[in-house]
Amino acid sequence: MVDETDLAHLQRCVELAAEALESGDEPFGSVLVTADGARAFEDHNHVAGGDHTQHPELAIARWAAEHLTAEQRAAATVYTSGEHCPMCAAAHGWAGLGRIVYASSSEQLTAWLTELGVPPSRVQPLPIGEIVPDALIDGPVPELAEQVRALHVRRHGGA
Ligand SMILES: [Zn+2]
Repeated sequence: MVDETDLAHLQRCVELAAEALESGDEPFGSVLVTADGARAFEDHNHVAGGDHTQHPELAIARWAAEHLTAEQRAAATVYTSGEHCPMCAAAHGWAGLGRIVYASSSEQLTAWLTELGVPPSRVQPLPIGEIVPDALIDGPVPELAEQVRALHVRRHGGA
């Protein structure tokens, strides 16, 4: 169940994804929200330099492991413009983070990129639930997924 607060945090993720795109990177953005409702950490993709592990959800897991207690991590929510890839889902699980809310799913992203003629990635686009079966997950959110799709279309030069 996605409420107004969730939508506001997801909208911020889409903004971060747009910022990534503006700076020549791939359009993905994520925020970490602690139990008190504060945005504790936010980031976007930094893969343009050639390191394709620089995903915001991985940065969030690392930041949380360093700055939050196990209890705080479990009570925190990760919002993201696109569902975690398997690497980030695993990091989420290892870090013991809580709920995940995504604007668009990996299944949607795969369909969009295929349509745009982007060659498939070497990493299987498995859903988070295949990597962290007990994860609490909400998404996708249609109106925001549409905004995310538009960013990917801009990135890959589609119509
Ligand atoms: Zn990732």
